[in-house]
Amino acid sequence: MSNVHELGYLKEKIQELKDQGVYRELPVYDGANEAEINLNGKMVINLSSNNYLGFANHPKLKEAAIKAVEKYGVGSGAVRTIVGNMDIHEELERVLAEFKREEAVMLFQSGFNCNAGAIQAIVDKGDLIISDSLNHASIIDGARLAKSDKTVFKHSDIKDLERVLKEKRDQYNNVLIITDGVFSMDGDVAKLPEIVDLAEKYNCMTYVDDAHGSGVLGESGRGTVDHFGLHGRVDFSIGTLSKALGVVGGYVAGSKTMKEWLSHRGRPILFSTSLPPAAVGALIEAVKLLMSTTEYTDRLWDNANYFKEKLGKLGYNTGHSETPITPVIIGDEAETIEFSKKLLENGVFGSAIVFPTVPKGTGRIRCMVTAGHTKEQLDRAVETFKKVGEEMKLI
Ligand SMILES: *Cc1c(COP(=O)(O)O)cnc(C)c1O
Repeated sequence: MSNVHELGYLKEKIQELKDQGVYRELPVYDGANEAEINLNGKMVINLSSNNYLGFANHPKLKEAAIKAVEKYGVGSGAVRTIVGNMDIHEELERVLAEFKREEAVMLFQSGFNCNAGAIQAIVDKGDLIISDSLNHASIIDGARLAKSDKTVFKHSDIKDLERVLKEKRDQYNNVLIITDGVFSMDGDVAKLPEIVDLAEKYNCMTYVDDAHGSGVLGESGRGTVDHFGLHGRVDFSIGTLSKALGVVGGYVAGSKTMKEWLSHRGRPILFSTSLPPAAVGALIEAVKLLMSTTEYTDRLWDNANYFKEKLGKLGYNTGHSETPITPVIIGDEAETIEFSKKLLENGVFGSAIVFPTVPKGTGRIRCMVTAGHTKEQLDRAVETFKKVGEEMKLI
């Protein structure tokens, strides 16, 4: 008999990944997350980060992080409900609530952990979650932890959502409709005004995960709810502090009641140590920076529009994105992976995204343009897409 510690069953599964051609090594870069990075020992244009505003290596954020470390140390010491609640955690919640134009904000340690903790806290047995079929993995996992029933509606299909509501609303106490604000693989925006109208018609609550909308959509990056002017009509507005805001963390913005409840029943608040001072200090600075200028979001959109237009002119299918997320749809899985490899050999890092992350036959390079890219870098990237596309006879 084989030794149990060899984890033979996992080795077999890993071999299956290799046989299917989906096994991968993690790329490694050296230095800060910038528009150009030293990846696996070579300088490449980075089209593969969520650092939308270039905040991950912003001098003002770094300075704020260092100051916070000097005053508060490197760790918060405990979970929020014991002693891990520093005045800077409360200050970050205050500035975020002001920025989001909501009554209150409850901070979590990441966007993932926010969904894992918040959803199960706000629904119970006898309730129903209705989730968009393309919602993020952390919403799916968060919903799995809830005691309520769960069902899905077809992606952004308002008729299908109403069908579900007609069939099921009466059988439940509370109903929570959950959607991403911006869908990360296609860059499309949720039809939030219609969703909110339906939610109100059927007396349901709404929960919007705006990980890719935070710092991107709305006035100076206030998010999808602000973009559509729906303040006060979305009950739980979730954001991440790890993407455009450049650091790490997640939060729910909404009412004081939301905050009171989550501070008693949000399991990551009760059982996981709060964000470290460096992250909190940098984030306070990040939010203040966004409230003082639209310079960063303006540059992000300018760059994104510039890049999308040029890629479209080359003849690529860039899907139906309404945000800086720019998919270049290649189709075949193996061809997509090959395309990404060739881009990298030519100095451009754009990740290949294939089945099962996206439907079969819709393999793509997901290009993430940021405020930190120069036009010269974007031009070089476009030239590389042209060269590789012609070599592979895709354009
Ligand atoms: C990235 C993402 C998350 C996770 O956020 P982290 O702060 O990185 O944990 C959650 N939801 C959505 C929709 C995301 O895109």
